[in-house]
Amino acid sequence: MDQLIQQIEGYRQEIEQLQVQDPKALEDYRIRFLGSKGIVKNLFGELKNVPNEQKKNFGQVLNEFRQFAESKYEEWKESTNHQTQTVTDSIDLTLPGDPVPVGSRHPISLMKGRIISIFERLGFSVAEGPEIEDDWHNFTALNILEDHPARDMQDTFYIQQNPDWILRTHTSNSQIREMEKGKLPLRIICPGRVYRNETVSARSHCFFHQVEGLYIDEHVSFADLKQTLYFFVQEMYGNDVKVRFRPSYFPFTEPSAEMDISCQLCGGKGCAVCKKTGWLEILGCGMVHPKVLENCKIDSNKYTGFAFGMGIERPALLKYGINDIRLFSENDVRFLRQFISSI
Ligand SMILES: [Zn+2]
Repeated sequence: MDQLIQQIEGYRQEIEQLQVQDPKALEDYRIRFLGSKGIVKNLFGELKNVPNEQKKNFGQVLNEFRQFAESKYEEWKESTNHQTQTVTDSIDLTLPGDPVPVGSRHPISLMKGRIISIFERLGFSVAEGPEIEDDWHNFTALNILEDHPARDMQDTFYIQQNPDWILRTHTSNSQIREMEKGKLPLRIICPGRVYRNETVSARSHCFFHQVEGLYIDEHVSFADLKQTLYFFVQEMYGNDVKVRFRPSYFPFTEPSAEMDISCQLCGGKGCAVCKKTGWLEILGCGMVHPKVLENCKIDSNKYTGFAFGMGIERPALLKYGINDIRLFSENDVRFLRQFISSI
């Protein structure tokens, strides 16, 4: 019995001197002391050979030793786990970071966003419509009847399955759809992609982008139209830009006008971009034709409205000094990367 107690004391000293610092040493320790054939198990096996009157005392010493051996095991397990984690999770904050390629907004989106934000400040909200449209919403409701010559200028792409479906030639279809909902007054801008059967060149493309605007209420006049567009031009191009309206014709507005701004590149003196005129045409506009209002079941005796529409490509070409419209749709990253810092 005394011999066994001494043995236990020897083991205790051995454990106290041990320095377990890695998982391998920890496992060796576990097998040697706590395993199924380990020292603790063997010592418990000795219990049956101890005289009965000493069993209680020996059992107590043995239990304490087992608890000591186990608590040491837990302690080392904790510290080696911690060490392993520290190694794998460690991050060297002084290393240079991996470069993450940052995308950029497309110049068309940049320009569209600018136009929208100006009109939003005037209380216009954005309305969008489908790019595949029926004849009614793209032409007929806009007073462009089937044999109207305006259809020649807006030749587009037809859907073979159903000749009544076309790729829209302007975003005016969104205006018709909003008017048909019958909620007045109406103050919307309609941005989106449109299609025309045009030869693709540096100056024109078979698809491009527009922002159109529409305001319908009681007593809306041409003065409201002019003031709205003056505000837009000042916000977009600056206070010193001159504006002029030229009479024009659209089937869906009466009266109609084209709006020009003074060429910023030559200051109105005349250059290649403005074709020596000193003026740049930026949008078409007019008072909504009563027939269009009636087509959308709006009382044209009570309500009036104005509408305007502009391309997005041309202002973007001017602003960013781009000389070929095809660059917008070629997805050349060398071109697109130039807009990374633009907002
Ligand atoms: Zn010019």
